[in-house]
Amino acid sequence: MAAANYAALSGVKTRSLSVDGFPILLQHNPGRIRSTAAKVSPDAIRKRPCFLCRDNRPPEQQALPFVGSTAYEILVNPFPIADEHFTIAAREHIHQDKINPADMEKFVTTYPGYLAFYNGSTAGASAPDHLHFQACRIDFLNGLVSFTAQNPGQLMKHDSHTDIYAMPELPMQVVHFVSDSIDSEMQLWLKSLVPPHGDDMMPAAGMRNIVMWRDAEQRLHTLLFPRAAHRPTCYFSEGEEQCLVSPGALDMAGVIILPRHEDFETLTVGALRTIYDEVSLDYRSLPILQHLMLL
Ligand SMILES: [Zn+2]
Repeated sequence: MAAANYAALSGVKTRSLSVDGFPILLQHNPGRIRSTAAKVSPDAIRKRPCFLCRDNRPPEQQALPFVGSTAYEILVNPFPIADEHFTIAAREHIHQDKINPADMEKFVTTYPGYLAFYNGSTAGASAPDHLHFQACRIDFLNGLVSFTAQNPGQLMKHDSHTDIYAMPELPMQVVHFVSDSIDSEMQLWLKSLVPPHGDDMMPAAGMRNIVMWRDAEQRLHTLLFPRAAHRPTCYFSEGEEQCLVSPGALDMAGVIILPRHEDFETLTVGALRTIYDEVSLDYRSLPILQHLMLL
């Protein structure tokens, strides 16, 4: 199954767009329909066996150790977006929102050339009940990586460890951290910059995506995408209004995965702008920001 899906990936169509100067790549990937259309309600999750738990994986699925961490193992993602696509799954069945971003830092430090990305439980994760993040080669997000190298953003805060930038010109809300490592203040940002409200069905902690990589100078880049919605309104529309897009970290970072051909053909810059508007949280209005800026 994995071999067939990786072979099919080389034939997927892509289309480039620019939204407000930010490079966007549309990827028509029919194999991802399962993830895009995943039912992630607590009820649906309770009723299915967890596909990341060792006992429920296909017997052919092998696992590599995550060197330096006994809490995770590395799996080939059988439904790839990138030509090297790994899922780094916790050995224990613990909730997705228990992520420690320092584990992602450890991954990109241990495995140079890879970037790590994370979907909160209500921001694109198709296994919201089992902690995991994912990895692909850094050059898969070449558009984003070169863009941030040239335009880090507006400096919001600077100290001896970390530069924190806002990127208000971009169509999506994002905070860009440049540092050597994740310090305690950055941890606070990564954990706290989520919507202040959430009902029981939608824990607010799940409303975020994180993308992390080290550049050629070994500086750690961390992008935090605070989310206002799991899916845009067009996902739930009918007929021609419908666009089946369910944004996760890669979509937020500029690679939009579209399982349906009609969506791939017709998605416009205006519609993309609306999608990013709807699913992004304007974090600058959050009271927590005052607290974080004063730290
Ligand atoms: Zn599990």
